[in-house]
Amino acid sequence: MSSKNIIEAKNLIFTYSDAPDALSGKVTAAVNDISVDIERGSFTAIIGHNGSGKSTLAKLLSGIFVPNSGSVQVYRSDCDMPLDCNNEEHNFDIRKTVGMVFQNPDNQLVATIVEDDVAFAPENLGVEPSEIRKRVDSALETVGLIEYSGHDTHKLSGGQKQRVAIAGILAMNPECIIFDESTAMLDPQGRRDIMDTILSLRKKGVTVVLITHYMNEAAMADKVVVVHDGRVAFEGTPKQVFANKKILSECSLEPPQCSMLIDKLSRFIDCDAPCAINVKEAVEVIEKALAKHGIMPGGEDKNA
Ligand code: ADP
Ligand code: MG
Repeated sequence: MSSKNIIEAKNLIFTYSDAPDALSGKVTAAVNDISVDIERGSFTAIIGHNGSGKSTLAKLLSGIFVPNSGSVQVYRSDCDMPLDCNNEEHNFDIRKTVGMVFQNPDNQLVATIVEDDVAFAPENLGVEPSEIRKRVDSALETVGLIEYSGHDTHKLSGGQKQRVAIAGILAMNPECIIFDESTAMLDPQGRRDIMDTILSLRKKGVTVVLITHYMNEAAMADKVVVVHDGRVAFEGTPKQVFANKKILSECSLEPPQCSMLIDKLSRFIDCDAPCAINVKEAVEVIEKALAKHGIMPGGEDKNA
């Protein structure tokens, strides 16, 4: 199916039956009328403060939860018709198409040996052993852990465990992977490794959805969706989102550090384009400002 979008979610509403105010009858929906499209092959970041509904939305998009109302349609590349979350028979195929990687790597590993862990899901799906071997090797290759095939999962670092979890999802051949704060429990090196893995998956054509608290990670996306109180407060390119101070402050979010730096600098120095969402752009703005003020980048004064 050659739809532009891999996921189309319309008017999703989801309420937890054990929500604290469920007894009073005044239940607040965790996801309260969200519509969102995920373009095939794209990288979408979802940001929002704690409790805003990001994880619930992710579970709706990946078929783990079924909405109280609204719909999620998933367009598999090898199916003529979209899979529909409201059709029970489609649920399993939705989960195979849209994989999820969670926050805590320890909760996601099931076997003591790396390759057994990665093989676990395809084995359960009844995939042929020779095909499983291929998928396990290819998945471990993709996450850069092929030489760890026979290693004990418990002895790996947090970042390596998270990469094993990603390989386990890859072995199911998903077309889209949702990462729910999958870098949150890792040290800076582990976080960088996971981001590199995510970017390389995206290059291979896997659609990526990343839920994150790190604005510099969201700045790498094609589209950022800001979730607030169970609704989409704003959606746009990282530049559009991080330039929108009103929305960020209403949703208790801060722009990436580079944006804050350039924003502060532009109050004292005349900068032409004072918006920067990453280090490269910040350097460009600073270089231009220095040139404009007659100072060459690198500290040389043009007029000297
Ligand atoms: P986020 O991922 O943005 O932190 P969640 O989707 O986890 O937000 O939560 C959205 C809302 O749903 C919050 O108010 C949270 O307390 C509530 N919630 C989340 N999980 C459960 C649950 N298992 N039972 C009851 N309420 C829940
Ligand atoms: Mg969450």
